[in-house]
Amino acid sequence: MKKAAQSVGDIIDARCTKCQKVTNHIIVAIAGNKPAKVQCNTCQGNHRYRPPEVVRKPPKRVSDAPVVKPEEWVDLENAKGNIAAKDYDMNLNYRAGSTIRHPDFGFGLVQRLCGNRKMEVLFASGKKIMRCG
Ligand SMILES: [Zn+2]
Repeated sequence: MKKAAQSVGDIIDARCTKCQKVTNHIIVAIAGNKPAKVQCNTCQGNHRYRPPEVVRKPPKRVSDAPVVKPEEWVDLENAKGNIAAKDYDMNLNYRAGSTIRHPDFGFGLVQRLCGNRKMEVLFASGKKIMRCG
């Protein structure tokens, strides 16, 4: 005997995007022996049937610093060889192209001044806004 096919009105487990979990659903439409549309018993929402298996998405990486582009880093490495960087001092005046050495971030290249005693500095770990004189 063939197993009885699911039919409209049956209760099945399905994934609900509103509830964001697997909940009881009532089949409201069948397509080719498979549930096509279901209604969530929890939120009463109608939606396409989604199997209960949870598809695991890799968590989004949240990076706090922008990644330095390779070409920018090459420029930085070149600059590093040519210019002796001085220790960073927030009271000194810097301009685009100035190099600094920061106790935490290491060698950095000033990209631009952003006004109000701030400047954008490119470090190996990414760009950072730094204080300047
Ligand atoms: Zn739901």
